[in-house]
Amino acid sequence: MTTLRDLPSVDELLRTKVAAELIARYGRPLTLQAIRETLETIRAKFISGQITVLPLRDLILAQTSALLDSWMKPTLRAVINASGVILHTNLGRAPLSDATIRAMDMVARGYSTLEYDLEKGVRGSRLIHAEAVLQRLTGAEAAVVVNNNASAVLLVLSALANRKRVIIPRSQMVEIGGGFRIPDVMKQSGAKLVEIGTTNKVHLRDYEESLLEGKSLVMRAHRSNFKIVGFTAEPELNDIVDLIHKAGSIFIDDLGSGALYDTAKYGLVHEPTVQEALAAGADVVCFSGDKLLGGPQAGIIVGKKELLDKIKKHPLARAVRADKTCLAGVTATLLHYLKDEAEREIPILKMMSLTPKQVKGRAEVWRQELEVGEVVEGESTVGGGSLPDESFPTFLLSLTVESPEKFLRQLRFQNPPIIARTANDKVLLDPRTVPPEQEGALLVGLKNVLNDL
Ligand SMILES: *Cc1c(COP(=O)(O)O)cnc(C)c1O
Repeated sequence: MTTLRDLPSVDELLRTKVAAELIARYGRPLTLQAIRETLETIRAKFISGQITVLPLRDLILAQTSALLDSWMKPTLRAVINASGVILHTNLGRAPLSDATIRAMDMVARGYSTLEYDLEKGVRGSRLIHAEAVLQRLTGAEAAVVVNNNASAVLLVLSALANRKRVIIPRSQMVEIGGGFRIPDVMKQSGAKLVEIGTTNKVHLRDYEESLLEGKSLVMRAHRSNFKIVGFTAEPELNDIVDLIHKAGSIFIDDLGSGALYDTAKYGLVHEPTVQEALAAGADVVCFSGDKLLGGPQAGIIVGKKELLDKIKKHPLARAVRADKTCLAGVTATLLHYLKDEAEREIPILKMMSLTPKQVKGRAEVWRQELEVGEVVEGESTVGGGSLPDESFPTFLLSLTVESPEKFLRQLRFQNPPIIARTANDKVLLDPRTVPPEQEGALLVGLKNVLNDL
């Protein structure tokens, strides 16, 4: 075919068997649109001289089909995380427990008591979900779950600190991932930022002097993604809280990750727990649902009833409220803690509690299956704005390949994509973050890439 008039018409293409199949799969309007766009592209290329021969009918339909495939391809896809970073923010943080997924599935599928009081047969409040479990778990007087911890911080400050002085040490003026800056959030909420201390040190007298200057709130923001080492000083939380309460002030603690268990158990540094913050006298504590807690994305606020009442009533509470699947999921995850089965049921805790020997065993199996590489000692990290610099001993499958970067890229093109890392010109794969049920798919993907070398 050499003139545009030879190009098949849209109708002609639509009458083919291939088009009928495409219509069955993607619907008529979209198939029609794809045929038109494909023909348009061919015409434009022909006119500009990019092509001199027009494609035949079958090829045009193949191009249409490819175009439809590309339109349908989800951008949000499941991947295999062989990077060894347990809470990888870019990979969606915490995988969920079976019970959590079931609970979310249940409310997603049908109607629920989201805001309905079964006893009275009248409207209820979504704010009650998860509250009782949180009270029991943490001993807090009241609790509320919102969209994420960033919105929890914004809401708490907007409700309690608007036009008030908020004292915060310079060592806690943090920026966490995604450009969320504590000082900016404080300004956004209408709080008057009062910085005390220096980058590395803050003393009790700094708090004391600042509290004397006027009625204020005090905020603590956890250093989630960096460490201060060397000459540092920070008073004991108990002492700070005593001072704050003597001055008639409120203490807000943004724990960031907010573990409910002692991370020292896994050979990591101790991450401040929610229970400790409350026991030390924090009036309001907020933390994430999908960091060390291991649940879905959420922001959890616990603390004094009187303050939580104000927080719940603030207009922003409506804007940042949690949806029904989140509320169901958070509650289900929290129940694992309440039932003392967290380590058995919550995926990230299962990963953290794997011994190096167990990980080594799996890396050995991978090596045997693939018949290449070696099993070497290495480190897994927690990641996800938790426990900066902290790692556990692990074992890795190390592959020596000509171009590690190219190899990683090809791993990303597998289905499902595989995310690995490189160090010292080796490709490293960590079994710790690969659940056993993904092992088969991982090995298939690896074999594909190895065979293509
Ligand atoms: C991670 C983090 C947040 C934000 O939590 P998201 O749940 O990601 O919104 C806020 N403050 C601190 C200290 C954090 O570490």
